[in-house]
Amino acid sequence: MIQLKNGDQIKAMMAAGRITGEALLRARDHVREGVSTYELDRVVRESIEKAGAKPSFLGYAGFPASACISINDEVIHGIPSRKRFLQEGDIVKIDVGAFYKGFHGDSARTIPVGKVSEEALRLIQVTRDSFFAGLEMLKVGNRLGDIGAAIDTLVRHNGFSTVKRYVGHGVGHELHESPDVPNYGTPGRGPRLCAGMTLAIEPMVNIGREDVRELDDGWTVKTLDGSLSAHYENSVALTSDGVINLTGIDPSF
Ligand code: MG
Ligand code: MG
Repeated sequence: MIQLKNGDQIKAMMAAGRITGEALLRARDHVREGVSTYELDRVVRESIEKAGAKPSFLGYAGFPASACISINDEVIHGIPSRKRFLQEGDIVKIDVGAFYKGFHGDSARTIPVGKVSEEALRLIQVTRDSFFAGLEMLKVGNRLGDIGAAIDTLVRHNGFSTVKRYVGHGVGHELHESPDVPNYGTPGRGPRLCAGMTLAIEPMVNIGREDVRELDDGWTVKTLDGSLSAHYENSVALTSDGVINLTGIDPSF
């Protein structure tokens, strides 16, 4: 069942979203060659805890860290490590959740490490653009399939592919709520969008094929063909007055 939120609940989700978004901004400020993914995770955790919140991912289904940190052909769910260091030319995905006063925020960004290839920059830009193409369809009376169709269409027009195996989701009291929010779909199909819906829209986009595989660590998901992958996620709310980007606190990021 889709849990609709009232005005007070959406206000509380704005607070959780702000803490989530701030943690991502702090992590971005630490992205440079030579930094370990463990260090980025520490920055995320400290930022969330200083705000009086809890990292949503820590201990979730046994996940051992506060952020998922995935590099290059890793799509999502990378585990931070003291032995993994960023290198010039990498693209790093940081996915963060914060739980505050009963609600979760969930947000991810892909960040270049130093100078990266033109193609990597284009991948990051297209992935971000596809999120906003999807967000534009988040309107009372539209259907869920309109969001995924807009994302997938923009991605395919740019020659990339959208990961189908993993999807966005409702977000609120639980980190993952109903409904699933696929990054593909048929316009005019799926549940009707209505005021009070809070969703994590999160395109995952590969330069190559859409196929992915999970590593033996039980978490890390990689592209099957080894091509680069990017991820862009915000938690958003649909209200009768329009859309609130709960985690997107810096419009340029
Ligand atoms: Mg996330
Ligand atoms: Mg999510």
